[in-house]
Amino acid sequence: MGNQRTVVVGAGIVGLCTAYELALRGVDVVVLDRSATFDSASCGNAGLFSIGHYPLTKPGASWRGLRWMFDSTSPLWIRPSFSPELLRWLYTFHTHCNEAHMHRCMRTLCAMGWRTVQALEAMLDAESIDCLYRRSGWLDLIHDEANLDAAAAEGRALSSYGYRTDRIGGAELRRRDGAYADEVAGAIHYVDSGIIHPGQLVRGLADALAKRGVTIRTNVTVTGLTRDSSGRCVGARLESGEVVRAQTTVLAAGIWSDELARSAGVRIAMQPARGYHVQLDGVPHLPVTGGVMRETFIAYNPMGSQLRLAGTLEIAPVGRPWMRKRMNALVAGARKYLHGIDGGRVTHEWAGYRPCTADGMPVIGAVRELPGLYVATGHAMMGLMLGPVTGRIVAADICGEPQSIDEELLAAVRPDRLARG
Ligand SMILES: Cc1cc2nc3c(=O)[nH]c(=O)nc-3n(C[C@H](O)[C@H](O)[C@H](O)COP(=O)(O)OP(=O)(O)OC[C@H]3O[C@@H](n4cnc5c(N)ncnc54)[C@H](O)[C@@H]3O)c2cc1C
Repeated sequence: MGNQRTVVVGAGIVGLCTAYELALRGVDVVVLDRSATFDSASCGNAGLFSIGHYPLTKPGASWRGLRWMFDSTSPLWIRPSFSPELLRWLYTFHTHCNEAHMHRCMRTLCAMGWRTVQALEAMLDAESIDCLYRRSGWLDLIHDEANLDAAAAEGRALSSYGYRTDRIGGAELRRRDGAYADEVAGAIHYVDSGIIHPGQLVRGLADALAKRGVTIRTNVTVTGLTRDSSGRCVGARLESGEVVRAQTTVLAAGIWSDELARSAGVRIAMQPARGYHVQLDGVPHLPVTGGVMRETFIAYNPMGSQLRLAGTLEIAPVGRPWMRKRMNALVAGARKYLHGIDGGRVTHEWAGYRPCTADGMPVIGAVRELPGLYVATGHAMMGLMLGPVTGRIVAADICGEPQSIDEELLAAVRPDRLARG
């Protein structure tokens, strides 16, 4: 593949992992990003490497979203709007919130889960990236006794895909880790997963790519894709007018991938789901591992001497000012689960976007309508975790290698399914 050149648009976790896997295969790679600060969702996320995670399209999720539509402090909030695109997305989302679809998704996501751990650990070892990665599992932390059985049943359902969970009562949880409040009823431990510092991962990976000879151009905004006279995609056009030419182009620009694809007549319909994080210093009892507080949907992760609280899912157009009350809901919602939250000092606040498809699955692979173009986006709340395996899938596609996951399973993430509606 020595002479082949690929341009990757987007230096988030998905673009960088794709660049990494291509570089390992001897491809000449150029990564383009409009930012130089690495402040996308790939750095601001909760840092749960939660393999076997359920997609957004869980049965009942659409009804819950509708119920919460009039409460702008709820964990999942859809800003009311009559945008035809949003209404189409919501309808399609609703039609996918059922058991049969979830089972189809989980077969694919669980197969990807094992591969993504392998890909991540191989990359961290080979490049000696220090990003606080620990395979310590994550906890579904349950405050109300009444929710324990349902949480345990969700955990057990994963065993059919080979994933392990462990039910831990409140007293035992506090014996193992003094960080949890007395009112917490218990937890489900997702044993096979891990936690990570996402910003350190992204920056470490960017440094490793530079050492491997990959060109990363920051502060360059891509305004569209370029076609040749045969209709093939031959690179990306920058705001300056420069065209970065390549045999293949990978669109990994998160939520912005759709508008860039549209410039070449291709659609990747997605909605932006904004999330927030707050970083606390000086919390007296840092938990040993990370997790999600079940009733408030807030994720937590100890990162060095700090605690990150992250969450809330707000479907609203990109660029609207972020909402103070949703940011404040993070600390307020964590208080009843973790000791000493109020002793913490806020060192950083952040908001960013998850790219969400209406069927809850990412979009990975070649775009049939535009030869030369590949997409890698739509990972919603699983992009950190699925980034490494996504890189492998795209690199194998571009280099004509067999995939390590059955094509029948990969059909659930292929771009063709969107065209079929
Ligand atoms: C609050 C929150 C918590 C989350 N927690 C987790 C978690 O615990 N685990 C997990 O697996 N996932 C989590 N996620 C989801 C995860 O962060 C995303 O799925 C993932 O970061 C998407 O990565 P990406 O590379 O596709 O996009 P992004 O990270 O958005 O990167 C896209 C890049 O493209 C660049 N770009 C865009 N447009 C252009 C352009 N025109 N020209 C040049 N460059 C451009 C941007 O600057 C950006 O750097 C969370 C997300 C949020 C918001």
